[in-house]
Amino acid sequence: MAETQCSAQVIYDSWCHTHQCEKRAKVTRNGKPYCTIHDPEYIAKKDAEGTAKYYAKSTSERAKRELVSTAVSACKAINPDNPMAVAESISDLYEALKEITAQFKKVEPLYFKDNEIIGRAEQALTKTEGGG
Ligand SMILES: [Zn+2]
Repeated sequence: MAETQCSAQVIYDSWCHTHQCEKRAKVTRNGKPYCTIHDPEYIAKKDAEGTAKYYAKSTSERAKRELVSTAVSACKAINPDNPMAVAESISDLYEALKEITAQFKKVEPLYFKDNEIIGRAEQALTKTEGGG
């Protein structure tokens, strides 16, 4: 491409007066020359990236709010007067349930094979680990 000036109009004061961009054109879009910064395809790509970033951020923030809301509700359901005590003991409860279940199955494997309580404990553990 020959030395051509970018065709974009640039605002140069707070009164929105414009002048033609003084940069050298690097691309032609719809028959008009543009510099790299004013290339409509570059601008569209940047806008799309900004929009995607915005939605990714808002989706992850919504997911965090849902997690907090669900966790608080679950803790309040167990101990309405002190949901924080539940939150602080969840990992202890989880580890204890794993150990108890394993111990019962190890000591009396046949008796606890189809035991309803051990079955519920195993279901809760599976759910906790994201398996159902
Ligand atoms: Zn330009």
